[in-house]
Amino acid sequence: MLRIGITGGIGSGKTTVSKMFAVLGVPVFNSDECAKKIVCNTNIKTQIIQLLGKDSYTANGSYNRAYVGAKVFSNYSILEKLNAIIHPQVAKDFETFCVKNKHKPYIIKESALLFETNIYLQLYATILVKANQKTRIQRVMQRDGLTQQQVIQRIRNQMPQDQKIKLASYTIANNNDDLVIKQIVTLHNKILKF
Ligand code: ATP
Repeated sequence: MLRIGITGGIGSGKTTVSKMFAVLGVPVFNSDECAKKIVCNTNIKTQIIQLLGKDSYTANGSYNRAYVGAKVFSNYSILEKLNAIIHPQVAKDFETFCVKNKHKPYIIKESALLFETNIYLQLYATILVKANQKTRIQRVMQRDGLTQQQVIQRIRNQMPQDQKIKLASYTIANNNDDLVIKQIVTLHNKILKF
């Protein structure tokens, strides 16, 4: 079973593309979804409160995504510290997922931070989902109700797309007028032949 990574900047469409691979029968591990669940673990919760303060969780105990998001997206060093709390547990859950799917030809690990965290070095190959900046901004503004400036700020806190293109084994162009399914099927067939 091969481990293939999918990544892309905010609004590039990596989740959308990963879902299409899932339709082809490929098991997909969504690292960001996994991380969202992990923040509810008591031990992780304690560490996050130590790092970012008690406002990281609301009065009813649920994760205050807006508060944490605002803190980390304007400060890369805090983002790194938060990742250091969450990532080891995500890695454990991913290993469990791999064991469960060890009979499959390949699985996909979807993560926003494959290159930033060097996780890509542990994968057989990586796929970068790319889209032009204007499109990404429009998508995220529409999806998350953010202003143009807020989206630009988040993009600036990520590794630039051009740098990711150099590190990726394959790219999928996902602008609104790109033929995405065709690219996915071609790549799927290629990976099956590895
Ligand atoms: P993030 O890192 O912010 O979670 P992402 O890279 O996972 O983003 P998606 O959530 O897949 O991106 O897509 C962002 C938004 O753009 C979604 O609302 C999605 O429906 C839309 N979108 C993705 N791909 C396309 C496409 N080819 N055409 C039109 N809309 C798209």
